[in-house]
Amino acid sequence: MSAPLINGKQVSEEIRGALRGEVELLTKQGLTPGLAVVLVGEDPASQVYVRNKEKACHDLGYYSEVHRLSASTTQEELLALVDKLNRQDNIHGILVQLPLPNHIDEKSVINAIAVEKDVDGFHPVNVGNLVIGDDSLLPCTPAGVIELIKRTGIEMAGKHAVVIGRSNIVGKPVSLLLQRENATVTMCHSRTANMKELTQQADILVVAIGRANFVDASYVKPGAVVIDVGMNRLENGKLAGDVDFESVKEVSGPITPVPGGVGPMTITMLMQNTLIAAKRLGGLA
Ligand code: NAP
Repeated sequence: MSAPLINGKQVSEEIRGALRGEVELLTKQGLTPGLAVVLVGEDPASQVYVRNKEKACHDLGYYSEVHRLSASTTQEELLALVDKLNRQDNIHGILVQLPLPNHIDEKSVINAIAVEKDVDGFHPVNVGNLVIGDDSLLPCTPAGVIELIKRTGIEMAGKHAVVIGRSNIVGKPVSLLLQRENATVTMCHSRTANMKELTQQADILVVAIGRANFVDASYVKPGAVVIDVGMNRLENGKLAGDVDFESVKEVSGPITPVPGGVGPMTITMLMQNTLIAAKRLGGLA
């Protein structure tokens, strides 16, 4: 029997509906959440992501600024723009689209973003707060993963969650957020021995490795929740997850598809972070 689908598109629409309503109310009170997105260079995928963020702002009633800078922009010029945005009252969230050209040090740029406007959740202070369990702006894709698991109605506390992938932007923060939900977390990576033995014990399996269709049914415990973060472009142009959806859905519990699972949640969580940042900066939270 096929598993129930976790429809990220639908969840995303529901959250966006709530955000739209809240932004309308805030705007009436004189506070319109504002997001600045900075794009350096002409990376085609980044251009698409930035356009989608701009569109989300427009659809939800946010103020938005997109700064499209040439690939030859110097680090000093970029840092000067970040500094200006840090001090701009109508901007509550700043997102510098990654990757940056090689001549710019990404860490220096991320560190320069005001912690309270770091809506990507990548600033070391926000990362540190996440680690110690303090309030922080959460990284968007990991926050989306947790939201999707919550929407299944399946309790995370006491469950065994296995995360494959330990990147700073997905795997590590997902594992921290799962621990915050009182799951018992096992992390797997490219050097993990006997990975299948571990994943077969997972009540919740989150996969973020960047390898198309890598996880098949033999990795999955019957009935497990499976969240596929992978977004891999195949030679035929189609998008594939890290999970072999067709085989896994025959054994798993609720499962995310690709596309239409985690993907739509990332920008929605960015919009949520921007609203949170605006309320905090505006003294309303
Ligand atoms: P990444 O930085 O390349 O990290 C990949 C992780 O997977 C690493 O920790 C690596 O282990 C591990 N890994 C690689 N091959 C493995 C294997 N055969 N067995 C076990 N572990 C393995 O990738 P990422 O940025 O986390 O992204 C992962 C995927 O998520 C990509 O497909 C990406 O496009 C997608 N993604 C989607 C969204 C979204 O939906 N909005 C956002 C971000 C990323 P080591 O640490 O040992 O090298």
